[in-house]
Amino acid sequence: MKDNLQSNISKNRRLLSGWGNFSKSTASLFYPETFGAEYTLPQGTCLARGLGRSYGDAALNEQGNLLMTEKFGRILDLTPSGVLTATAGSSLEEIIRYCLPKGFFLPVTPGTQYVTLGGCIAADVHGKNHHIDGSFSRFVEKFTLMLCNGTIVTCSPEVNAPLFHATVGGMGLTGIILEVVLRLIPVETAYIRTHYRNAKDLSHNLELLSDRSIEDRYSVSWVDCRAGRKNFGRGVLMTGRHAGKEDLQSIADPFVIPRKREISIPFYFPDGLLNSSTARLFNACFYAANKNKGVHIKDYAGYFYPLDTVKYWNRVYGKRGFIQYQFVVPEDSGRRSIGKILQHISDEKRGSFLAVLKRFGPGNDAPLSFPKEGITLALDIPMRDPGLISLVEKLDRIVADYGGRVYLAKDSLLSPEMFREMYPRFNEWLAVKREYDPHCRFDSDLSRRLALHDL
Ligand SMILES: Cc1cc2nc3c(=O)[nH]c(=O)nc-3n(C[C@H](O)[C@H](O)[C@H](O)COP(=O)(O)OP(=O)(O)OC[C@H]3O[C@@H](n4cnc5c(N)ncnc54)[C@H](O)[C@@H]3O)c2cc1C
Repeated sequence: MKDNLQSNISKNRRLLSGWGNFSKSTASLFYPETFGAEYTLPQGTCLARGLGRSYGDAALNEQGNLLMTEKFGRILDLTPSGVLTATAGSSLEEIIRYCLPKGFFLPVTPGTQYVTLGGCIAADVHGKNHHIDGSFSRFVEKFTLMLCNGTIVTCSPEVNAPLFHATVGGMGLTGIILEVVLRLIPVETAYIRTHYRNAKDLSHNLELLSDRSIEDRYSVSWVDCRAGRKNFGRGVLMTGRHAGKEDLQSIADPFVIPRKREISIPFYFPDGLLNSSTARLFNACFYAANKNKGVHIKDYAGYFYPLDTVKYWNRVYGKRGFIQYQFVVPEDSGRRSIGKILQHISDEKRGSFLAVLKRFGPGNDAPLSFPKEGITLALDIPMRDPGLISLVEKLDRIVADYGGRVYLAKDSLLSPEMFREMYPRFNEWLAVKREYDPHCRFDSDLSRRLALHDL
């Protein structure tokens, strides 16, 4: 009976990678459209995978099963006050398309809309407003979760609270998130009133980012880490708030944004095309194009998701791929720790094409949630040679010594020891994992690498 019920599921074995195209592994793929009470998990280890936008090995499960949630996306309800119910495979892009014309937007969004609700909870994603609003889970009223024995339970900060907090940031290792209830925020338009401010060097950049007198809800700073000595760490702070109708003068419909031409990268660029010199050039052009822009109006996609206009942009790094190194360090040591890290990268002549700083407010109750109070920096670095691995080990040491941590949704290289140092509440998480998944049915390449399954 149960086998028959799985007939709506297709299965094949495939080599998949994280978004950085560096971590790769082969798994059996399943594409369930529903997860009813009759659904049986396939034999072997299982892991849910959303749209595969985590950069490293968090959504990979070598020799196990991946439950691909892309066909499991449905918007079920939106109340007049903006409370959304949707299945976990729904992408943020689908949610925006449905909810924005009704006057609601996501309370927290990462830098791409091609991620699922399940992926956002499992990584407890943050946006440009963490210093004001916290991370994604703060707006999750509840979700249902399929456990390793097939039971479906409801989790919220009040009901099954330990399981709720272990699933938030738990990278898919507690179960499969099924139905999510999320509080959206009301907006008057689909536009953002942005303010760009130039920063002449790294100290100025950090000073602007920490300026409490800037009241905009969103804040992010781009850093030119290839600029010469005097301008090292210069950049542009881009703050923003949802525009009101009064901010839009020549725009007829406040919820309609112009259609953008989508560019697609059809093949992998040759390895080595992106190097220290091209990084310097790209960064100099970006600075020239964005400095002195002051206050202006941008549509939400241009402000939140600039990279989404280039489909498969990750292929520009070539087949060897790249890593995104993202860490958070306490604000008071930010200049020293971030300066040291950028210096190490620069000394090794490794170009970072994209480097962005954000400010985090306090963390939350989830033991593996990444954000904690401080400054976070994300750097894209091409995987040119194995030397990058030893560089990252050095960077991890600096981050840990300053009391910081690395983001698991981006990570591919952290060691188990370093992970435990950076996530001191790991044992709280492990106690919940042991209770609900004692035989590690939910497993992943990340979990094996970091020995999270070492029960
Ligand atoms: C261009 C770009 C910009 C980004 N910007 C940000 C940012 O600003 N802030 C930020 O926080 N992150 C950011 N990210 C990272 C991204 O938001 C996270 O990695 C997110 O988890 C990806 O969602 P996904 O649906 O693609 O999940 P996947 O990458 O497929 O999976 C990620 C994790 O979620 C788990 N998971 C997925 N679905 C479920 C489910 N239904 N049940 C249980 N577990 C599940 C997987 O097992 C895995 O551990 C960015 C990524 C890209 C590519």
